[in-house]
Amino acid sequence: MAELYDGIGRHINYLRVAVTDRCNFRCQYCMPSDGVQWLEHDDILSYEELVRIISAFVSLGVDKVRITGGEPLVRKGLLPFLREIACIPGIKEVGLTTNGSLLTEYAPLLKQAGVTRINVSLDTLQRERFIKLTGQDNLSQVLAGIKKSQEVGLTPVKINMVVMKGFNSDEIVDMAKLAINNPYQIRFIEYMPFRAGENYLFTAEEMKQQLVAAGFTNLIPQMGGSNPAKIYSMPGSQGSIGFITPVSQHFCSSCNRIRLTPDGYLKPCLLSNVEYSLREQLRSGISDHDLLENIKNVVWNKPKQHYLAKGQKSDRGMSRIGG
Ligand code: SAM
Ligand code: SF4
Repeated sequence: MAELYDGIGRHINYLRVAVTDRCNFRCQYCMPSDGVQWLEHDDILSYEELVRIISAFVSLGVDKVRITGGEPLVRKGLLPFLREIACIPGIKEVGLTTNGSLLTEYAPLLKQAGVTRINVSLDTLQRERFIKLTGQDNLSQVLAGIKKSQEVGLTPVKINMVVMKGFNSDEIVDMAKLAINNPYQIRFIEYMPFRAGENYLFTAEEMKQQLVAAGFTNLIPQMGGSNPAKIYSMPGSQGSIGFITPVSQHFCSSCNRIRLTPDGYLKPCLLSNVEYSLREQLRSGISDHDLLENIKNVVWNKPKQHYLAKGQKSDRGMSRIGG
């Protein structure tokens, strides 16, 4: 079995694929502030091109793929594509990250298509806030979609909350309570400033202080996995909670992932503007051998770490990277 390493010895086995930049939500922290300009249809990789790139990565040793976007469930033809990649020999995990708005319809279909894991983004449990943040009145659909995912066995259902100081930082306890009576994994994510002048950072330490003050005093760390989230179980609770700390405590030294943008750029680090276009290479007839060599080269040169805490920003909004 092949294995893929970067130049400083990190084992790369995880590819995150953004299949579209489009989305039915307009989350303020994700979409460009100067108005959305979608990529042209021809700029987006076709499913055939995506399968070719994913297969190349798998032949090099990648065994986990996560489909994201934009909102992946708004791209037409997604299910046959998912079925195809779930069958690539060597793939162990096909995950999907979604805003959850279409999940009541899609959860059973995703399960049938071979998706093994689902992450749902949910930043607030308050309807008015939800509308303010996303531009859509879809909170009840998202909650129903989460429930449906649990019912069809897309488990453990992971719920990602991006915590923003002064916007939803007062909802950490309410969100953690969801894990008491439901087998969900609630993951609190530090906000990453993608634009100049933003100051929404609420650190995991601050989150923990709130939880302890509310009585969540017995958090038992769960061991294992290459997960960037630090996960805790809580005695008497069905679910668990976790913290992802890209800002206060980056996890670059154990980073195992590489990203593919909707327009076909390999992005070895979320925050770096170093990108390599595979799209033109594919469209000008690159051989399988040269494609593999180029991928190995990009992975080898993966940046050592990001410098978010020192103000590093990516020129792309999240919806064009894939989160
Ligand atoms: N539309 C899907 C969704 O919302 O889950 C998938 C794409 S979205 C870009 C992936 C993830 O990136 C979401 O969980 C979102 O909250 C997260 N994200 C976007 N902007 C972020 C930021 N500035 N800081 C931290 N996470 C962010
Ligand atoms: Fe859409 Fe996800 Fe970005 Fe929100 S975070 S605008 S749901 S891509």
